[in-house]
Amino acid sequence: MGTQLGAQHIFIASLEFAYKGSELRGEMAAAELPRLQDMLAAPEGKISYVVRGLQGWDGAPMLEIKLDGQCQLRCQRCLQGFDYPVQLLTSLMLVPDSQLDQPAVEGDEIDSIPADAHLNVLALLEDELLLSLPFAPKHPVGTCQPVVAGYMNEEMERVENPPFAALAKLKKFVKE
Ligand SMILES: [Zn+2]
Repeated sequence: MGTQLGAQHIFIASLEFAYKGSELRGEMAAAELPRLQDMLAAPEGKISYVVRGLQGWDGAPMLEIKLDGQCQLRCQRCLQGFDYPVQLLTSLMLVPDSQLDQPAVEGDEIDSIPADAHLNVLALLEDELLLSLPFAPKHPVGTCQPVVAGYMNEEMERVENPPFAALAKLKKFVKE
């Protein structure tokens, strides 16, 4: 399967996809993921994906999802954009509707999704991407340009006008 850019709707019969060990590869633009838009500073950025069907050790149908690319997130501190590398590898267990109500197996670390016969692949990839993003994306501490400038100004003020100078003077006065 070749690269499909701008493929808005890809549906798979998820159980069949898993049991057959099928694979789907492609590339999506960050700009075409509707729920990502609020977090983006710029529409640039592409994310390539691999969706692989497989069966777990107990034969359970699963999907393995791999995302690799980048997008321009907006820093929540300075509101400037920054390159955010997208690298994600996750496995999801496909659970038939009839088993959805059953309690999760103790110690089961694998997330599960309903075994949809008409699974919207891009929506699923977007779900997984959004889950993997930081709640409030930020530049590394101290690297936001406006904040660094603001901090410097604050420091300069403190040097010129030390907050304890007045108190020190007062103490001196009381002693005398
Ligand atoms: Zn920032």
